[in-house]
Amino acid sequence: MNLEKSAAAFELAKKFMPGGVNSPVRSYSNVDCNPPFISHAKGSKIFDIDGNAYIDFVGSWGPMILGHANEKVVAALKKAVERGTSYGAPTELETKLAQLVQKFYPAMEVMRMVNSGTESTMSALRVARGFTRREKIVKFIGCYHGHSDSLLVNAGSGAATFGEPSSPGVTVGTAKDTIALPYNDIDAVEKIFAECGEQIAAVIVEPVAGNMGLVLPEEKFLQTLRNVTKKFGALLIFDEVMSGFRINVQKKFQITPDLICLGKIIGGGLPCAAYGGKAEIMRNVSPDGKIYQAGTLSGNPLAMTAGIETLQILIDTPNFTENLTAKTAKLLDGIKKVASVPIQTPQAGSMFSIFFSDKKVTNYDESAAANQLQFKKWFIAMLRQGIYLAPSQFETLFLSAAHTDEDFEKTVDAAKNAFKELD
Ligand SMILES: *Cc1c(COP(=O)(O)O)cnc(C)c1O
Repeated sequence: MNLEKSAAAFELAKKFMPGGVNSPVRSYSNVDCNPPFISHAKGSKIFDIDGNAYIDFVGSWGPMILGHANEKVVAALKKAVERGTSYGAPTELETKLAQLVQKFYPAMEVMRMVNSGTESTMSALRVARGFTRREKIVKFIGCYHGHSDSLLVNAGSGAATFGEPSSPGVTVGTAKDTIALPYNDIDAVEKIFAECGEQIAAVIVEPVAGNMGLVLPEEKFLQTLRNVTKKFGALLIFDEVMSGFRINVQKKFQITPDLICLGKIIGGGLPCAAYGGKAEIMRNVSPDGKIYQAGTLSGNPLAMTAGIETLQILIDTPNFTENLTAKTAKLLDGIKKVASVPIQTPQAGSMFSIFFSDKKVTNYDESAAANQLQFKKWFIAMLRQGIYLAPSQFETLFLSAAHTDEDFEKTVDAAKNAFKELD
């Protein structure tokens, strides 16, 4: 595989942007190779400027559930762009998207559209703090909620510690209000609430965690979060920026959070996200209430259009989620059959991961303990065979409705060869 043009483009990009990229993971620094530079994408495939084609399991990190450049979405966007790209004024499109979102998430009685997942979690936290008049928040190690200051805190592994910033630039003052606990650790949650439950504004969690590889909630974990938050008057925030519209967490686990954050799929590949929840809480957001939050491009007509078209297709296609979930299971079965080293293949809906480990992964430490070297070799062997995976074991992979049986055969064949390189 020739990546000469991509290599030159990368060198040039590095002059202008840190690492040559606008989001760190794209630099492939984890896997010691250069990233392909992309020219276009269609359906299940993504193409680089060197003329290589790949079967794409990244899907822009989640949004492309219909595959790339879906015809209906593209047609609607073409029409929308002719009518102007932004007005900074209300449109009917925003209400239309909100109505569709509510069909999936009835708990989002009132919501606000924003431009990124980071904005949605940051704003939800402000609402939680403003509503409860408390300052501390609880998050879980290995859960990623975007890069706002309060959430860029990870107390390291092990026991609960009062926040240490995980990035220079996040002040100790901010970090001290963030408590980071191990995912799936019910005892740690109960202990911290017993110690300082009256000071906690909210617990924020990925109900299905996708940012330490895919890690599923153990039985009773989410229920415990619901119980203790209710008991102590804290809010429960489900960050479904990644899992949203891929799995129905509320139905599956029978738990209703106070606030929900959405992103990725909601914008159909354009920058859009949302946060919302109980009316009683959300009515405190400006201008109904005093909690300030705003955005020049929020509710942008192009983003709304892509979101509306995408969600409408999910609604109109019979058994969309069930079929995509079954397809994902089929692909994973194929990969498991050809694996010549121990792997774990957790799945939730159309999200999945491959951990090079002989043990089930239930939290960040266990994810970090998986064999990174094997992953790296396997990843590069897959890329060379035209299979585009996330360049880190800490990322989740996604299936789209555009993936075909032929894609699966190619992927499983490639996987078989890639496993051989690990011996
Ligand atoms: C991607 C992601 C975010 C951040 O969204 P951006 O649009 O990248 O700001 C937040 N939470 C979760 C769970 C995510 O997967």
